Amino acid sequence: MSRRCPSRSAISLEQKAMVSHHFEQAEVGGKQPLTCTVCQQTWASGKVDSYCPGVPVLREHNPEFATKTTLAKERLYPPDEDKPDAAYRYYVRRDLYYGWLYRRDRCIARPLTEGQLAGNAKREKTTRLRYGCRFCTDRYTKKHHDAGLFEYGACQKCRTRIRDWNAAIS
Ligand SMILES: [Zn+2]
Ligand SMILES: [Zn+2]
Repeated sequence: MSRRCPSRSAISLEQKAMVSHHFEQAEVGGKQPLTCTVCQQTWASGKVDSYCPGVPVLREHNPEFATKTTLAKERLYPPDEDKPDAAYRYYVRRDLYYGWLYRRDRCIARPLTEGQLAGNAKREKTTRLRYGCRFCTDRYTKKHHDAGLFEYGACQKCRTRIRDWNAAIS
């Protein structure tokens, strides 16, 4: 069994200090089940396999919590990234990791400003003019263009379609 359990996210100093669990029962390594009052993890065998993340560990998906990556997609930001509200366990090969979760309702919403929205719309329009397909709604990017994937103002799908059609009528 692996005892390594580093975290993917940076851990704050306080969290590093919280390496040991808080058990009501005194004995660690004994036969009785152990439950940590902080992270709420239980070890039926009494054999502890990880350090304490310092926050409750969720065993199943709870929509009230999310990772900072998920939250950022909704333009929600935790008040302090170093202070997660909960954790989840995951394994990479056989090493245990904790991922941090934040309470959605404690996050700060930072919607895009009018200026940013206008900027995005303008960028989209310019890109579409340059790399939009003349035959369908697909649009490419400069990256595609530079990679030779966008040519003659038509997307790959449409080019294939047109080529097949031309071949059929010739
Ligand atoms: Zn614990
Ligand atoms: Zn197309």
